[in-house]
Amino acid sequence: MDTKECHIFRNTFKKFVAKEITPNVAEWESKRAVPRGLWIKMGEQGFLCPWLPEEYGGLGVGFEFSVIINEELIRGDGFGVGVPLHSDVATPYIHSYARKEIKERWLPGCTTGETITAIGFTEPNAGSDLAAIRTTAVKDGDSYVINGQKTFITNGYFADLIVVAVKTDPKGGHKGISLILVDKDAPGFSRGRKLEKMGYHMQDTAELFFEDCRVPSSNLLGEEGEGFKYLMEKLQQERLEVCIKCQVYAEEAFREALTYAKKREAFGQPIGNFQNTAFRLAEMATEVQLGRTFLDNLILNHIQGKDIVQEVSMAKYWLGEMVNRIAYEAVQIHGGYGYMEEYRICRIYRDARALSIFAGTSEIMKLIISRNLGLRS
Ligand SMILES: Cc1cc2nc3c(=O)[nH]c(=O)nc-3n(C[C@H](O)[C@H](O)[C@H](O)COP(=O)(O)OP(=O)(O)OC[C@H]3O[C@@H](n4cnc5c(N)ncnc54)[C@H](O)[C@@H]3O)c2cc1C
Repeated sequence: MDTKECHIFRNTFKKFVAKEITPNVAEWESKRAVPRGLWIKMGEQGFLCPWLPEEYGGLGVGFEFSVIINEELIRGDGFGVGVPLHSDVATPYIHSYARKEIKERWLPGCTTGETITAIGFTEPNAGSDLAAIRTTAVKDGDSYVINGQKTFITNGYFADLIVVAVKTDPKGGHKGISLILVDKDAPGFSRGRKLEKMGYHMQDTAELFFEDCRVPSSNLLGEEGEGFKYLMEKLQQERLEVCIKCQVYAEEAFREALTYAKKREAFGQPIGNFQNTAFRLAEMATEVQLGRTFLDNLILNHIQGKDIVQEVSMAKYWLGEMVNRIAYEAVQIHGGYGYMEEYRICRIYRDARALSIFAGTSEIMKLIISRNLGLRS
């Protein structure tokens, strides 16, 4: 992953983030939104879906370039910029399972920033238990008619195209799930409010509503009833994408704490000289390094096309908890200043809380891990 091309790409993207994102974070957080213009600028420079083939406007490069974008966004405080979800989670469903004419219509916009994508799986009554979703899609001539509701949808307020999980066979359990694309202009589609969250403030997380929402039957991804299978295929990368966020945020929180501990004085000496603080930082450094080693290996295996279901579940569970431990300790080391908005660690602490919840909670990850160990939990 340390190729010359990657190095150049990282430097270019880092400069972009420093100029176009970091100085605007406070304003975008207060507005609870990232301007659409940022997406267009990112598209112009090849920072959206760089993995897509050139025929759709992409660069045709590997997942390592997506990793760079994800990492540098977090380092530059762009946690709420929903680009990794768009590029590496939602758009891959379209590329893998959509019909040719649908791909030709929508994918170029995914690389220019004209089309922002989202995934709509979670419902008010079904999060971890996806088989329990109630949103239905009924075939009617050349259309599907969708009824139901989604919640907590990242990019939900500004998305142009949403991959929606529906039941085409309401009695079929997970075998009744299908995936359908809904575009923002589909009759019967509407959005609720932007949801007020603990952190992740510049992200336009929203509710979505479908009332006799009609979409062409060609919007079906793949085959009816295969949605759950497609989800399982793509969740590996989605969870890896979140693992990267966990790791980089842990590294950032640790760095903030270390810098502060060397600078802040109490009782006539830097607080980092107290053995308790020094040992805490030593423990944090160890956890962060363990996480990095595990994650880098996982990324490599994913790029090589290996099955990483068990390892990515372990990583999502462990890194999601680890970043919360590190963020908690880092705030503690900052004392009262850690609780103040003007200190970066305050935002990291708030944002990190979501990481052990979305893309599968820690408990669901443990469920997968234990089942793969042959246990019936
Ligand atoms: C900021 C944010 C962004 C999100 N973005 C998206 C998005 O873009 N698209 C989308 O579809 N969803 C999104 N989600 C939803 C997210 O994926 C769900 O919140 C998550 O899957 C958990 O579902 P839930 O909230 O319904 O909790 P529940 O499933 O109700 O779980 C509640 C608690 O019970 C535990 N639990 C549940 N089942 C079990 C079990 N079998 N064994 C042990 N413990 C269990 C859980 O681990 C959790 O602790 C987002 C959520 C957040 C917070």
